[in-house]
Amino acid sequence: MINDFEKQAEAFHQELYREYYLAEAGLKDELSIIPIYERYAHLFGEDVVRELLGLTQDRRRRYLAEWVTLEYLENLVKGMTESISNAMRQATVEWEGQQIPYHNLRPMISNEADMSRRHRLDELEREVTASANPKREQRLSKLHDRASDLGFESYIALCDQLRGLDLPSLTRQMRSLLNDTREIFYQRLEESLSGIEIRVEEASTCDILHLFRGRRFDALFPKEAMIPALTTTLAGMGIDMAQQENLELDIEPRPLKSPRAFCAPIRIPDEVKLVIKPIGGPDDYASLLHEAGHAEHFLNVDPDLAFPFKRLGDNSVTEAYAFLFHYLPLNHHWLHRILGIEDGSEFVRLARFQKLWFLRRYSSKLLYELELHTRLDGAEERYVSLLGDELGVAIPPEDYLKDVDDAFYCAQYLRAWIFEVQLRRFLENEFGAEWFTMRDAGEYLTSLWRRGQELRPEELATEMGYEGLDAKYLVEELVSTLSDARD
Ligand SMILES: [Zn+2]
Repeated sequence: MINDFEKQAEAFHQELYREYYLAEAGLKDELSIIPIYERYAHLFGEDVVRELLGLTQDRRRRYLAEWVTLEYLENLVKGMTESISNAMRQATVEWEGQQIPYHNLRPMISNEADMSRRHRLDELEREVTASANPKREQRLSKLHDRASDLGFESYIALCDQLRGLDLPSLTRQMRSLLNDTREIFYQRLEESLSGIEIRVEEASTCDILHLFRGRRFDALFPKEAMIPALTTTLAGMGIDMAQQENLELDIEPRPLKSPRAFCAPIRIPDEVKLVIKPIGGPDDYASLLHEAGHAEHFLNVDPDLAFPFKRLGDNSVTEAYAFLFHYLPLNHHWLHRILGIEDGSEFVRLARFQKLWFLRRYSSKLLYELELHTRLDGAEERYVSLLGDELGVAIPPEDYLKDVDDAFYCAQYLRAWIFEVQLRRFLENEFGAEWFTMRDAGEYLTSLWRRGQELRPEELATEMGYEGLDAKYLVEELVSTLSDARD
């Protein structure tokens, strides 16, 4: 029964990702996933979930149980999910006599150099966000109730047990990260904001968005050099992208194509799409490299692995491979070799501070989400005070639900950030500071990618000689690289 079930699950997964790909790549007018869920509804019945939850002793079934349970929950609220997303897709605001789609506001805010205009745009965006909050709250309450109906102590317990997140240990490690990086963070915050003439007391998250947009660095990251930067990087590790027949690199401009790069692993490893609409600039480079990390992982998975090991399991693993490439531009050797940049220190300094911002943001999101999923009452105030205290700028209360991904995805990112530093240190020790130019490093990475997501990051870290997942390397790196006056 289980083999047949896995085949069906894989078929569902392929249809779903093909649909996402077609819609996001602009090859189709709209996304239509409800008919796919309906066709495969038998996979997500309550009886199936209960049966699989009773079979979690072996890993292959545990990964299936995790996935089926989360899809079962999503299936129960999919009407609400879709109505929130459609309402946001259709929403517009009036700005200087024009109707601006809600989804275009973010890029406008990040590019707006005038602070008062930026804050007005941000207010317009927040009003629309708030309009969907009653429905978001309803959706979340239903997820909480259903988790209890399945016999879990809480939604938190369901996520923690099924996903193997080890939330107590992660929470401890992230609290230390927040403490140990607090001083350097506040110093850098003040210094970076004063560089764009903003006083910390007046700043809000939309100013941070503008700060990290870093337009002055666009010239270092030209649009034309993006794809060559990627192919040259991979070639350095002995990976010839042109020879990867299972990869489709889609760079064609289409009006409906998503402005953000993405990877669609449709059939693993036989059909993987890497989609981008190149515009250039540091963010666009980071997102291309990030998605290329996912793509190389999925392209190299052993075709003989069972579906749960090819695609399910712990996404912290694939996110860590994505981060490994994503953060290459923070490496002076990479900037010099690949983009011919002689002195990238100004850029690297900002990019490192941005990384610390993200780590503090996700660490405080984890603390907030643990409270949110315990008690919905007063969540808005807790969101503002908790994140505000750790990030030092005004936090928009309207985002208290929009800013939350289901099932503690924030924890998977945090685990990935921790593991990425451990993996990179291992690569540097084995292959040198310019590991990304070494064939042996490419071979080693390929051997990791081959294993899909059968092993968890703590197990991979242990194989590399560490004592499991350990945030101390990440904290050390953040503090030491940010403390150097110049490097
Ligand atoms: Zn990712």
